[in-house]
Formats: sequence, structure tokens, C-alpha cells
Amino acid sequence: MKVLCIDSMDYRVVEKMGLKNLLSKHHGQLEVPINKRVKQPLSPDVWRAFLTGVHKPVDFTGDPQLLKALEFVRARVPLKLGLGKRFKAEKDYPEKDFIGFIEELGFKEVNFPYYSFDFPRLASYTSAWLDGGLTENDFLDWMFSEFRKEREEMFGLEGDVAAYFPQLDTIQHCFWKTPEIIDRWYNYFNTLAGEWQPDFIMSDHGAEKGVHSMKGFWSSALDVEVVSVTDFRLLFARLLRVDLVNRGEVKKRLRDLGYV
Ligand SMILES: [Zn+2]
Repeated sequence: MKVLCIDSMDYRVVEKMGLKNLLSKHHGQLEVPINKRVKQPLSPDVWRAFLTGVHKPVDFTGDPQLLKALEFVRARVPLKLGLGKRFKAEKDYPEKDFIGFIEELGFKEVNFPYYSFDFPRLASYTSAWLDGGLTENDFLDWMFSEFRKEREEMFGLEGDVAAYFPQLDTIQHCFWKTPEIIDRWYNYFNTLAGEWQPDFIMSDHGAEKGVHSMKGFWSSALDVEVVSVTDFRLLFARLLRVDLVNRGEVKKRLRDLGYV
């Protein structure tokens, strides 16, 4: 099974642009968890819910004053790329404290949140552009080279693969006043979907005027109907004929007896 995950792909834009490779046999908007604190979907919340089938709000612990101070330092220290890694700020992904369907169902992942995705690295390049350390063209070129690298890795894998692309989110946050750039990136993903032919395409939320919109996106060539982002774990298990519910029950009983 091939699953293509694109951060911040807005269903309304895909429909409006008529991007046929992104609109498979069945498709629609997706209910996603809305983070209570920021009152919009947050990527770490939604991808975690996608991976586990359960919504548990991400707990950003940390002293708000300290985090603010770190942000202040981060904004003013002469920027070296990669510096972002040293500061654990609120916008970084939290520690992975769960088992997702990637492990349970034996998927191979490409750049997936909580697995190999390096969010601070992306944030450091974004900051470099914002602070004038990178030109707009260099920033866009860097993002495109990352996209190409991921694409290559994805095509090199066989079996069940879940691949995640963060670029469209950053593009829409940074360049929402330049529709040509945004359209170009939607087209890159339409081409990618045509070439890779995924069984599922999905996104954690859309984007509107540089901020997240409230609904996710899904599309599938299979005869399935998906309503919520929490549906995927059991749906994939069913399609791959893995009885996760029963396996969980057996594991619990055996653990109680001290067998495992
Ligand atoms: Zn997102």
C-alpha cells in the first residue's frame, strides 16, 4: 500500500485547480482534531492521531517565559543553519511516546513526522529566509531540492510505504500573497501523485491566507469511505489483513500472565 501525505494540502484548492491525479476515485474533506489552545489544527496533533487512530492533544510542556526568551535569542543570534536544533521551543515536534501503524503494520516511512522528519532543520531554513540570510530564490530552490530528494527515496522503496512532504505547508505560510508560487507547488504534487500512483493521499489541514484551515483532505483509488483522520489506522490494518484489535487483546492477556 502506498500512502502519500502532504502537509497543508487544501481540498478546495485541489478542486478549484482541477488536479485530477490528486482527486482519485473517492475523495473529500476530512475531520481532523482542532487544537483547543490555538483553535486550529496543529500538524503534530493531526499526524499523531493519523498514526495511532486516537486523538491525544500534544502537550507542549515548558516554561512559557523561557520559551519566549529562546525565541528571542533565536531571532537575534547571527544565523548559522542548523542552529535551530539547539533550542527546544514550542514549535518543535514533541517526543514520540507512542507506537504508530508504521511499526504495527510494517510500513516503511519517508520523512514522516515523529520518525525521520527533521522539523528544526526546516525551521532553520525558514528563519534564514526571514532574517535575510537566504534569498527567496535560494529558499525556494532548497525546498525543491528537499522535495526531489524525498521523491527519489520514495520511488526507491518497495512494499508498504508512507511518505510525508512538509513543503506545501511552509510555502503557503510564507508565500500566500504570491499565488503563482502556491499553484506551482500544487502542480508539483499533482505530477508526483500521477507518477507514484498512491492508494491514499491525505493531508492534515488546508491553508487560507497564510494560516491553517479547519479540514483535512483525503483521496483514494480504493472503494473506501473515510470520515476522520482517526479512521486510517484500522482501515489500513483491515486492508492489509492485520487484526490489530485482536492482536492488542492477545498481547494484553499475555502481558498479564508475564509471557511477553
Ligand atoms: Zn500541517
